[in-house]
Amino acid sequence: MSPPLAVESQVQALTELYNSIQNARHYPRDLLKTAIVPNPLPLTPPSLSLYSQQLKDIAFTFRSDAVQSALRAAQESERADGQNIMNHVRRENRKRRRPPSPESPQPYTVIERQSSSFFPVTRDDLTPLKSSELIEYIRQFNKEHSSYKLGIWQGTRSFVKDVKNPAILRFTIKDVLTAYLTVSYTVNDLALLVESVTAFGPRERRLPHSQSEYSVYRMLSQELGRMIHSDPQVGLQKFMTLLCSYENMFTARCDKCQRVLCVEGHVAAVERVWNESNDQWEPRHVSC
Ligand SMILES: [Zn+2]
Repeated sequence: MSPPLAVESQVQALTELYNSIQNARHYPRDLLKTAIVPNPLPLTPPSLSLYSQQLKDIAFTFRSDAVQSALRAAQESERADGQNIMNHVRRENRKRRRPPSPESPQPYTVIERQSSSFFPVTRDDLTPLKSSELIEYIRQFNKEHSSYKLGIWQGTRSFVKDVKNPAILRFTIKDVLTAYLTVSYTVNDLALLVESVTAFGPRERRLPHSQSEYSVYRMLSQELGRMIHSDPQVGLQKFMTLLCSYENMFTARCDKCQRVLCVEGHVAAVERVWNESNDQWEPRHVSC
């Protein structure tokens, strides 16, 4: 067999670099603000060093001979014939939905898949929940799940029947966590979307808009934010399957390193990755 063409390895090097830059977009924004914000989100030293190392790795890859020679080759190729060069950035892909061009099938499909939602697409084909259906949904949810509790957080003890927009839901898993979900809808689309989530320890008494004093729950809030960011249209029912997967948060093994706590920082597996073959969320450490 003939060795792989140089151009294939060049495309591979650039695709990998592109993907690692895309992943870096999910790093907590506060990480980049720490120098200018007076009260930045406190990041634990292990997660801070982890993100910082990953950024250094990207810079190292960028300067590597493989990437630099691939970029030079691309530039020369463009100078020689700059026609029909498509921008394969995801916004373009979404708008145009073009089939991959025969000249560059590999990077196109990889980028397309990596930029999509982290949520399963086939799991539930339920129509998104509407505001008027929320009370009944909560009733059913609590009936079906004895170890979880979902309710509307009012802030006061007065009983109001109307669901506000946005509404704040309080979700608890006994002895594991409390999470506040901000859900809202628009006049054009009455489907309830999850805007943000903040996680706390089960016995913390804090307001939904504050943050936990424990780093593991702050990391969890960041992870949940990253998941929403991957699919801002995610409906409440689908999001609840993700939240329920944290029931075994402190006992589940990471699907990569098989440890409960990661080696660096001794943090539980707060990341979740959808496994299509098992049809369930798999726990993973942020550092794995
Ligand atoms: Zn792990």
